[in-house]
Amino acid sequence: MERRMVKFYSKENNKLAMHAAQGHFATSNSHINYYIDVTSIKTRVREAKEAASILSARVNLMSYVDTIVCMDGTEVIGAFLAELLEQRKVLSTNTHETLYVVEPELNNSNQIIFRDNMRDKIAGKHILLLLDTTTTGETVRRSVEAIRYYGGIVEKVVSLFSTVQEMNGMPIDTIFTAEDIPGYQAYGPQECPFCKKGMPIEAMVNGFGYSKL
Ligand SMILES: [Zn+2]
Repeated sequence: MERRMVKFYSKENNKLAMHAAQGHFATSNSHINYYIDVTSIKTRVREAKEAASILSARVNLMSYVDTIVCMDGTEVIGAFLAELLEQRKVLSTNTHETLYVVEPELNNSNQIIFRDNMRDKIAGKHILLLLDTTTTGETVRRSVEAIRYYGGIVEKVVSLFSTVQEMNGMPIDTIFTAEDIPGYQAYGPQECPFCKKGMPIEAMVNGFGYSKL
């Protein structure tokens, strides 16, 4: 897979690139013709910082942020983003004048949960939700649902890559869009033209990466 990866640079920042490989892949909710890999943005400190800086500029300073909820291994970016928002003096209701950066847990049924020791970082807090790649918005929907269940107020949703502009009325602010990858397509599993032609799925992909079938 690595050999087939092509780099696509951000129009906003030429130090930031995502990798993508063409093929036939399945996420939990869709089939896609490009596997998108933002691992380097999530794990290389310099790139994570650049991504955080783009996202930080998109946060309206009139809105409140108390907690950043990081999905799909985006904590490094989340920590830099929190620091930048503190420097920009974003409004917060936290008494310690510092933001929380948290990662939820997934239970055996793949539900998003927060344990008792994490709940005070969510309940009554203004939340910025951070995700890596959003193709159908299903993870956004589930995350927003879970945050609201634990009493959090979702103020903003940001993603590194997204093909969806909004989910249930919640806008999704993203660094990369499908337009950054010429020919990118996502299909419902029933409508996938590759499946209709009998082409095998190459790999299952999710926020952690890919695994060959
Ligand atoms: Zn397919």
